Amino acid sequence: DSEQPDQPSEQQQPEPTQAPATKEATFTDLGLDPRLVQAIAKQNFEKPTLVQRTAIPLALDGQDVLAKAKTGSGKTLAYILPVLQSILKRKQTDTTAYTAALILVPTRELADQVFKVIETFTAFCAKDVQTVKLTDKVSDAVQRSLLSNNPDIVISTPARAWQSINSSTLVVDKLTNLVLDEADLVLSYGYDEDLENISRAIPKGVQAIMMSATLTAEVDTLKALFCRNPKVLNLEEKDA
Ligand code: ADP
Ligand code: MG
Repeated sequence: DSEQPDQPSEQQQPEPTQAPATKEATFTDLGLDPRLVQAIAKQNFEKPTLVQRTAIPLALDGQDVLAKAKTGSGKTLAYILPVLQSILKRKQTDTTAYTAALILVPTRELADQVFKVIETFTAFCAKDVQTVKLTDKVSDAVQRSLLSNNPDIVISTPARAWQSINSSTLVVDKLTNLVLDEADLVLSYGYDEDLENISRAIPKGVQAIMMSATLTAEVDTLKALFCRNPKVLNLEEKDA
């Protein structure tokens, strides 16, 4: 009987890798490219928000993520940092120019905002990351010339994105990352057909990150369309 453990419950102790709840992760702990860490430091962002410190490690690990967190909780950076990290890491060995990330947003205003955030966080690696924003303000000719350089990141509404993919102006053959920001709003703008077309046009296995303020039936539809086994983060108001 001496071989029996005295305390069977000992085997159910928490994994040692789990950080104590009181010790919050820092941006440095996320293992990001030093140039991104430098840009974060310049913003005086002390520590990642809840959605950032939960979603970023999963996304860096290559998993699909659907995160629900309230407005103002820092969802933009939660997807921009893993997307930038993935591009910078790949470029260490492969400098071919191709569009690796497509960020879909419901409105032109949001496309402008996301573009500015990317500019801010690529301050120290601007020559390594080209970003193009497709909006209806840009003429077809200008859009064609912008996309002919195979920008690393394209930000667009679903309608413009599909139009560009369908006309072979935007090449998504080598896409690795897809983001749907404000996923709960994107279908309310009537983009369902465009999104279905885009989902069929992009390579299988593209990593999907979806951000939303609410989890609705529409968000579930998009999850089924774009995600494989996503980690669903349903973050409470009080935690955000
Ligand atoms: P959401 O998309 O969830 O509504 P945003 O990504 O627009 O939120 O971020 C809201 C605000 O919080 C922005 O002004 C952004 O600069 C700021 N912010 C984001 N992350 C942090 C952080 N880690 N520390 C401090 N401020 C942050
Ligand atoms: Mg947002």
